Amino acid sequence: MKNNLVNDISFLNISYGKNTLFEYKSPNSYKNYSLDLKIVRKNKKNDIFFHIHRGNLKIVYLKQENLFYSIGTEELEIQFQVLESIIEMIIEKFLESYAVDAILSYSDVSSSIFSQFRTKVVYLLAHFDTLDLVRSVAVICKVCEKSLSLYVRKSLIANADSYPVPLVFTHEGHSIVCYIDKQFNVRGVELVHITG
Ligand SMILES: [Zn+2]
Repeated sequence: MKNNLVNDISFLNISYGKNTLFEYKSPNSYKNYSLDLKIVRKNKKNDIFFHIHRGNLKIVYLKQENLFYSIGTEELEIQFQVLESIIEMIIEKFLESYAVDAILSYSDVSSSIFSQFRTKVVYLLAHFDTLDLVRSVAVICKVCEKSLSLYVRKSLIANADSYPVPLVFTHEGHSIVCYIDKQFNVRGVELVHITG
């Protein structure tokens, strides 16, 4: 990937209730994301990735157990699947690094407990390409008449209930659905109609 994720990930937040436990902001980001986090923290559904655009920001968020995980970028070419894979990686490392349940069972939790996690996040973002969490597949879009590189989260394919796995890619005002099999081969591409 050509992005420098350490700079291009605007924020990465882990919240419990209304409180931020951990927040990463890129070195060049001075913004406050509290309005975005308000939306993220309203999510009641566990284990489903949500995607939204807010102003210049592309945001992915997920609730797991009692924690809200979110990530935002202004680099719109960073695909949602990549953002999802970063969230999964962060969840794994966060829960590995801290006995979160035990820490949260104390009534007064200071976010300073988790501040050291930033070093790990910077390392993971800097080395994202070496972690092998996403695969790139090439698809031909009949509308643009060009070959597109789509990133696919490896865990999406590994943990799918059935194959091929449909994946929708929205770009330049239209959407295609591509079907990806267990070996990351693209088995078909179709233009899809859109409403909403
Ligand atoms: Zn297209």
